[in-house]
Amino acid sequence: MNEYEAVIGLEVHAQLRTRTKIFCGCSTAFGAPPNSQVCPVCLGLPGALPVLNRQAVDYAIKAAMACGCRVEPTSIFARKNYFYPDLPKGYQISQYEQPLALGGGLDITTGGVTKRVGLTRIHMEEDAGKSLHEGFADSDRRTYVDYNRSGVPLIEIVSEPDMRSAAEAAEFFSRLRNILVWLGVSDGNMEEGSLRCDANVSVRPMGQITLGTKAEVKNVNSFRYLEKALEYEMVRQIDLLESGGRVVQETRLWDTSTGRTHSMRSKEEAHDYRYFPEPDLPPLVIDEARLARVRATMPELPEARSRRFSAEYGIPAYDAGVLTQSAALADYFEAAAKAAGNPKAASNWIMGELLRTINERGQRIEDVPVSPSALAGLIVLIDKGTISSSMGKGVFATMYDSGRSADSIVQEEGLAQIGDEGALQAIVADVIKGHADAVAQYRAGKRQTFGFLVGQVMKGSGGKANPKMASDLLKRVLDA
Ligand SMILES: [Zn+2]
Repeated sequence: MNEYEAVIGLEVHAQLRTRTKIFCGCSTAFGAPPNSQVCPVCLGLPGALPVLNRQAVDYAIKAAMACGCRVEPTSIFARKNYFYPDLPKGYQISQYEQPLALGGGLDITTGGVTKRVGLTRIHMEEDAGKSLHEGFADSDRRTYVDYNRSGVPLIEIVSEPDMRSAAEAAEFFSRLRNILVWLGVSDGNMEEGSLRCDANVSVRPMGQITLGTKAEVKNVNSFRYLEKALEYEMVRQIDLLESGGRVVQETRLWDTSTGRTHSMRSKEEAHDYRYFPEPDLPPLVIDEARLARVRATMPELPEARSRRFSAEYGIPAYDAGVLTQSAALADYFEAAAKAAGNPKAASNWIMGELLRTINERGQRIEDVPVSPSALAGLIVLIDKGTISSSMGKGVFATMYDSGRSADSIVQEEGLAQIGDEGALQAIVADVIKGHADAVAQYRAGKRQTFGFLVGQVMKGSGGKANPKMASDLLKRVLDA
């Protein structure tokens, strides 16, 4: 059998987080009763005219800048004509020959290797309504349509076919989501459909330059499904070629219940859509002043922040990468690191106990009941030796559940370590008296018994002895 490689390009649709729709004043809020957020414009009634939402354009520019794209001074809205029940106008306003932005790219890292995935373009368009095939008494016979989503602003981000594995594609999609959410231009909520991905995938024998025939897998809304759908599709196409068949260009759907893709329709060509410039909207002209205004709102981006975390706080690059998965997490770390004066400890606690706890409970970093300064309070107690780090885990759990400070928990529950030699002397004396055999062995040169004796002192103190102090004191008494 030949060796094959996959060639994958993604088209990602992201809803922009504007309050109102792209061409009318209707609300974009998710979850309202069906058809309660509609007007003549987004219902496509005759004579209604679109007016472009400025905020949507600024968000699209911001996304383009963050992805290193060139924002075009003039872009043109175009009608993409097709009939579908959720598209009341019979066309979608999109951009075609002159999109908002060109070029750019993102760096992705998989299996320790970093590579650049180029972007072809970013354009603006309106979302369609939603067909509801389930959830009604007569759903077996009828489909209902909710137009609340009709006219919600979207950007479509089209990558170059630069990815060679399902893992790379999933990583690219995830990186892109992080950036859009980080910028605040999209909520990235995949369950609610704010972020969707179509994947173009073909395979070719290793070493072949020309591209194989591609299939498009439509509307994948999770990183895991994207990876699975692409893996399935690659195997399907390779099997087809190896058995002497050929891949047909078509649109396929990923079925989560069967773990397969299946054919939906033959793939349309651009000319099927009879694109032409939208006569009701002027060309979108973006001047330098507007670019400068948007640029001024640009936050420090994840990669830059990650590099700064390594340099400024001396934490490993791996930690910095994890801590810059979201702006909220990065803010949390930075506040805790500063307050504790111990960035590495802050990083360990956040990447360990904190992320584990919020994952277990299905929470978000924004909802964590332990503030960065409260976590810093716990770190300070450990650094001072008031409690051991293993006791710290229990204190952290109590802080998380009760919202109390580390100080008050340690005080009220009497958890402070015995850090006073006087209090330890009695325990050490008891241990020596109670374990004469072990003491004799130690004095006869069997040094391993020392660990056992330290353990007995720790036990005698109920785990509260400062381990170093206990060990030092015991050694002094034994060697005296
Ligand atoms: Zn409307």
